[in-house]
Amino acid sequence: MSESAKLSALKVGVDVPWVTSWTGEPVLGVRPCASVNGALAIVQADNAGYGKPLYSQNHAVRQRLTIRDMLCPMCGQPTTPEDRYTQVAHPFAAGSLRASGRGDALPADIDDDRILIDAGAIAPLHKACSSRSLRYCPHLKADPHIDVRAFPRSWVVLPLMARAEAPPQLFLAQARPARAIPVIGFLQLCGLTDDRDPAWRNRQPLAG
Ligand SMILES: [Zn+2]
Repeated sequence: MSESAKLSALKVGVDVPWVTSWTGEPVLGVRPCASVNGALAIVQADNAGYGKPLYSQNHAVRQRLTIRDMLCPMCGQPTTPEDRYTQVAHPFAAGSLRASGRGDALPADIDDDRILIDAGAIAPLHKACSSRSLRYCPHLKADPHIDVRAFPRSWVVLPLMARAEAPPQLFLAQARPARAIPVIGFLQLCGLTDDRDPAWRNRQPLAG
């Protein structure tokens, strides 16, 4: 830890969202990470509360844990099906995700016209934590896309891939290694609703 990374007076999970990165948490590179069952992922030092909060930057490992374990990104505690709310939810049809080439994570029994809601990289929050964040966070206050709604009981997790320089030891056996490898950055969460959109083919393709 560097000199600049002193323990902040701001409390993690109270004054600053649990998922937020701090300047005392440098990116360590690419490693197999337990948050994604040992797959190669971007890994960051774990020193929440040290240095200054980087509000616009989620912590790579904590972000994946919020999605994997349904932890509230604000307080870091688990949400329950009865108290699980999303602030940004863009509806799309399963078929449009398959058409985009990112449908691998979708179970085959989900029909193309089934509607999912894209929560992006933000896990659902407790209702109270959502209300508090909307009251105090200037970015959220100004965001016209905020649409708080209960999160569905089922969901699908999609890895958001990044390209990274591979650690050299992974490629010792190769003479001229292809050094850029796809690795998991964040995880994307999509709630599965019971709604259907028979006309999904006529809609805008899914961005991202
Ligand atoms: Zn919470």
